[in-house]
Amino acid sequence: MSELITIDEARRRVLDAVTRLGDEPVALSDALGRVLAEDVTSGIPVPPFDSSAMDGFAVLAGPAAERDLVGEARAGHPFAGAVSSGSAVRISTGAVVPEGADAVVPVEQTTAGKDRVSVPDSRPGQNIRRAGEDIPRGAVVLQAGTPLGPAELGVAASVGRAELRCAQRPRVAVLVTGDELTEPGAALAPGAIYSSNAYSLGAQIERSGADLIARAAIPDDPGETRASLAQALDGADVVIVSGGVSVGPHDHVKPALLELGVEEHFWGVRLRPGKPTWFGTRAGTLAFGLPGNPVSAMVTFQLFVRPALAALQGRRAEPRRAVARLSAALPRNPQREQAIRVRLVQSDNGLTAEPTKGAQGSHVLTSMLEADGLALIAAGDGEAAAGERVEVELL
Ligand code: AMP
Ligand code: MG
Repeated sequence: MSELITIDEARRRVLDAVTRLGDEPVALSDALGRVLAEDVTSGIPVPPFDSSAMDGFAVLAGPAAERDLVGEARAGHPFAGAVSSGSAVRISTGAVVPEGADAVVPVEQTTAGKDRVSVPDSRPGQNIRRAGEDIPRGAVVLQAGTPLGPAELGVAASVGRAELRCAQRPRVAVLVTGDELTEPGAALAPGAIYSSNAYSLGAQIERSGADLIARAAIPDDPGETRASLAQALDGADVVIVSGGVSVGPHDHVKPALLELGVEEHFWGVRLRPGKPTWFGTRAGTLAFGLPGNPVSAMVTFQLFVRPALAALQGRRAEPRRAVARLSAALPRNPQREQAIRVRLVQSDNGLTAEPTKGAQGSHVLTSMLEADGLALIAAGDGEAAAGERVEVELL
């Protein structure tokens, strides 16, 4: 580890190495969580016609009067005729306002018989939703790079789109390394632990909109490490390896990646937890060597891999950060920026960042429970004081 770089510099090197993936048509029903790859323009006004906002009677606005009831307009069933000053049409919410009418009087304000209805004073435009009031024809309603959530999908449907061009999902392989690793569900042998990284990282990958194509455990063996990495690099857009990336006699990841033609972009970040983080590329494929410690793996995923997965999909507006005041003083680390797991609490003077319960060691995975974000504490002497404003990267 020659020279440690800052979080920002590491993130910049990752983003510089990303080439956006292609795009593909996706049915609306499958598009939740995908990233839009086109600007969506509406070919119609929404609503498509002037419609009633109430159940009532459509009239030509004027003074209170009794009028002839000449028909009915229901949602989906327009009235074929026209309304004149002496007539009215019974109308339901969402029905087309009939020709000649320019106001709707709510049913509660009227007294209707079989052929006649008595309506109060009305003014033009009342209780009418104008065509295009939500979306004018030709408007760009969604921009390329937008992540598709429920509202975006609803808006796309409201302009009649059955399919959207979306960024391809990055195909990601996760390889966890270590002779000690055991699959949950199996019995623990002496010296063994359960592999949590395979599941925390796998879930982070899926949350990032990527496609988890492989999840494998590799023993601390150079040959097996190389073989598994070779296979992963051939099939994935992003390969994530956890553990085995340090410089111990049983750490085989770095030499294997280099032998397989992956070019190193950085090794070591001025970050705690998460110093032994490695990043390289081979052609368009990204390879991350993340520390094995469970918190370090999740933190470095959040800080470096997640932005890469977003950028591969052309996603706008990453990372999401908030500013909050520290609830308590925290010792600074002289050399490294710290990522402290915090809960965000709304208080009288804005957001407060409270470290999660218990110890914050890189092996204490429970410190991630209930964390809303990572408070980034600058390196230095002394402590960050209670009440100091810090940036929090939102999880
Ligand atoms: P390493 O980076 O391989 O030196 O591992 C650092 C620490 O993380 C060791 O205590 C490992 O046992 C632990 N570790 C490595 N991989 C995992 C994993 N998949 N799940 C849980 N802990 C792990
Ligand atoms: Mg190991």
